[in-house]
Amino acid sequence: MTTTETPTELIHLTYEGNFQLECEATVLSCRLLGEDANGGKTGVEIILDRTVMHPQGGGQPSDHGRVASGEVGFDVDFVSIDRETCVVRHTGKILESLDGSPPFRPGDTVAVTVDADRRRAMSECHTAGHVIDRAMDRVGKTLPPTKGYHFLDGPYVEYKGTIPAPDRPEFLASLQEAFLALIDENIPTAIETLPRHEAEEKCTRLASNFDFRSMVAEDVTEVRVVTAAEWSCPCGGTHLRNTGELKERGWEVRGLKCKKGVIRVRYGPKE
Ligand SMILES: [Zn+2]
Repeated sequence: MTTTETPTELIHLTYEGNFQLECEATVLSCRLLGEDANGGKTGVEIILDRTVMHPQGGGQPSDHGRVASGEVGFDVDFVSIDRETCVVRHTGKILESLDGSPPFRPGDTVAVTVDADRRRAMSECHTAGHVIDRAMDRVGKTLPPTKGYHFLDGPYVEYKGTIPAPDRPEFLASLQEAFLALIDENIPTAIETLPRHEAEEKCTRLASNFDFRSMVAEDVTEVRVVTAAEWSCPCGGTHLRNTGELKERGWEVRGLKCKKGVIRVRYGPKE
């Protein structure tokens, strides 16, 4: 039986699903979250059996979009996932309903639609992070990644390690060159779910000091592996089909900072 504790099927995790922007879903629960003092709108939260939306996590922001059935519906402005239960919650606001009841009931069928422009921007930002991973390797700095921040207000990726101060300008120039070359090469993205040992082998083979075990919990038996710019790692985000799609907005490496054994590489679209 499907209950509100059943893990939500995340459509974006497969290769095809990564590019799917609409789906039908069944409502498992829908509730009002209380009144918003600003403008007579009420918060609403909905749990579905499946979704095309990407919940916030892994350094990538939440998708936006819409959940609707005919004329009834609401704009979703945040999607979260409970890491314990893998239940996804979509939240947004509706005009206060007269009888105080939620817009949907369990068992209703709804259409879920992702805001395509925002998704595209998020996928660019996230994929560019993978391309930097690969560019770091190409310039001889194959270092363990420690953090990715793929928000448009100042995205960056971090690695364990350091670069001596006098070498930084030259390093930055060669990293930028490698990054742009990978975009020019228009390398296709692969997304696959593999048994744990295969995933570990694939990710570790390419990055000799990649700490797979620190990224994937011990009890996980199947791992989604994303290969972008010929660089494989466990990842739950959304991606572009090819590195060449980063060209349009002119993504580039912006800067470099080394502090306390961490290298931070800032990047972004051309301003
Ligand atoms: Zn990714």
